[in-house]
Amino acid sequence: MAKYIGPVCKLCRREGEKLFLKGDRCFTPKCAFQRRSFAPGQHGKSGGRGRGGMGRESDYGRQLRAKQRARRVYGVLERQFRRYYETARGRHGLTGLNLLQILESRMDNIVYRLGFASSRAQARLLVTHGHFTVNGRRTDVPSMLLAPGDALQVREGSRQISYFKQLMTDAGSRTFPAWLNRDVSNLVGTLQRLPERAEIDGSLDEQLIVEYYSR
Ligand code: SF4
Repeated sequence: MAKYIGPVCKLCRREGEKLFLKGDRCFTPKCAFQRRSFAPGQHGKSGGRGRGGMGRESDYGRQLRAKQRARRVYGVLERQFRRYYETARGRHGLTGLNLLQILESRMDNIVYRLGFASSRAQARLLVTHGHFTVNGRRTDVPSMLLAPGDALQVREGSRQISYFKQLMTDAGSRTFPAWLNRDVSNLVGTLQRLPERAEIDGSLDEQLIVEYYSR
């Protein structure tokens, strides 16, 4: 499975905002963006053209930024992100909303949304290590898309691991969205329905993403 293996905090600095990619660390003074909130690289501090810089950002620049930002938030590489866009375009309804719903229904995202991991990156790791089942079958593919009615559960054998033992105590205090159902005592969650737009990160601009791919 291909994945981004560069320094994660650079992505936040590149986007000029906190993307919360490192779980609990993002809420501590160790957050790299809090210490260095300028873009990485030689011209980071002076700011370049576009975001945070002196020049006016072009339409293309804004579309590209919106697309890159969404990719980084969900941890998806370009080729797969484009595939999601093509799938979204082929579905009924609004392409932009379809795209966001596809991203939200990824298995790693659902693990994160259920509060079973503190970041999507951690969720991806837990999934690839084979700690989950979907509808009773062991599944270790973070990009797997869940459909309404699908149940995701921590494997019985994995529940003996200290991380998941602790999770049974901790997860109850973590919030989860209304489109999911969760039973912490059995470490199981169900996708009840796809999220509505108002239930997805409002800072994502799906219209600009659609414009980027429609050029
Ligand atoms: Fe971004 Fe989190 Fe790193 Fe801060 S600690 S820069 S929010 S990934």
